Amino acid sequence: MKRLAVIIGLALVGLMLVSLARTWSVRPQQPSVIDGSGTRFDPAKVATHLAGTLRFATVSAKTAERLPFEELRQYLRQNYPQIHSHSSEYTVGQASILEWQGSTPTLNPVLFYFHSDVVPASDGDWSHPPFSGTIDKDYVWGRGALDDKGGLIAFLEAAERLAGEGYQPRRSIFLVVGEDEELGGRQGAARVAAQLRQRRVHLAALFDEGGFITEGLIDGVEKPVALVGIAEKGYLTLQLRVETAGGHSSLPPLETAPGILSAAILKVQNCQLAGGFHGPAESMLRTLAPHMSFPVRLGVANAWLTLPFLERGIRSVATTRALFFTTAAPTVLRAGERDNVLAANAEALVNLRLIPGDNPQGASRRIEECIADRRVKVSNHSGNTTIGPSPISPMDSLAYRTLAGTIAANYPDTLISPWVTVGATDSRHFADLTDAILRFLPLRLSKPDLARIHGHNERVAVTDLADAATFYYRLIQNLNL
Ligand SMILES: [Zn+2]
Repeated sequence: MKRLAVIIGLALVGLMLVSLARTWSVRPQQPSVIDGSGTRFDPAKVATHLAGTLRFATVSAKTAERLPFEELRQYLRQNYPQIHSHSSEYTVGQASILEWQGSTPTLNPVLFYFHSDVVPASDGDWSHPPFSGTIDKDYVWGRGALDDKGGLIAFLEAAERLAGEGYQPRRSIFLVVGEDEELGGRQGAARVAAQLRQRRVHLAALFDEGGFITEGLIDGVEKPVALVGIAEKGYLTLQLRVETAGGHSSLPPLETAPGILSAAILKVQNCQLAGGFHGPAESMLRTLAPHMSFPVRLGVANAWLTLPFLERGIRSVATTRALFFTTAAPTVLRAGERDNVLAANAEALVNLRLIPGDNPQGASRRIEECIADRRVKVSNHSGNTTIGPSPISPMDSLAYRTLAGTIAANYPDTLISPWVTVGATDSRHFADLTDAILRFLPLRLSKPDLARIHGHNERVAVTDLADAATFYYRLIQNLNL
């Protein structure tokens, strides 16, 4: 008996030592710097250029006024003459394209995607009117400053400078500017992708919006973190519907339509959906853990032992849960008209965001299993706006290493991490044209800035814009080394 206790004791001590050794042996891993020659841009000039674009109210709508888009294209032609004269310019549906011919036709081209359309904004809650393009106290203010005109202008500054210096890329570079991204990109990105498919173009990489250089957004990490979206969650809305006979509320049945539906919604909220400690979010946590607290480091370094606790911890926080798991959010509820009439029907909409590896059919089946009540009919409500999760772009690709290395060169002291984009971007239309889709804008984003995207007082710092132009100046060259 005593011997057994000693053996168990020794085994436990051994396990503890191994766990600690593993924890301490994990060294922070960051990409090596790729130092393409940088150059400085005049912040005031870049800011003025961006402010000019924000004055065109390029609001997307099914019947959008086309004039602001025409005027914006004209404005870009005037302000960036070099890159326009060195490229061929054309439009496909609601997208404009600059194709900058590379010197080596055997190399696959790269594509930079931005969108010039914005969501609506009304003057009321803004410090400066949203379409005034005001430059004030080190910021450029206006709808679209972060999403997505800021990135577009930074890229154009870099391309204009390079073209003016006589630089010619080895790979062809496509600059695609969509004009209906906020509506799903069917008339823009989707049509450009169809045309490239027809031309049998295979892209070495596609760069789109998605992640930012976040500051204070990731709990427990002090340094800024550049989040590079290597995958994107899918989108599905399900309708839950209960139909009963109805009747007078003075004689209610034992179970009512709203009651049956409510029970189902609670089960949906507690339903364990697809996901777990694997995929791109695992890569993210493994990248950032060495910079986090000891318990997190211990848990991640010894995931083989701590997995159940680790996953429970991830699930218990909304932000981490969204990165690792498919989520389901009840968003709309409908039942009943009058206070003294039983609601014959009750209906709810549940919006799901699918983790890479999951699929709409599987998620729908899982929800039905969790509800386990035949009286609740589950059907697809998002129809053709249903989107499966994206494939995962590999981190050992030349494209990822080049992007990460360029971030490291341009933003020293910034951690670089893979990430899962939780919202949808237009890059999904190009999924079959490349295996390297990287979603990242080189702009700094703090917690309050998050609410500015699609919210009030959207703005970007003047110095961030100039740094972003330098970043693209380096990236274009590094992609052509
Ligand atoms: Zn956007």
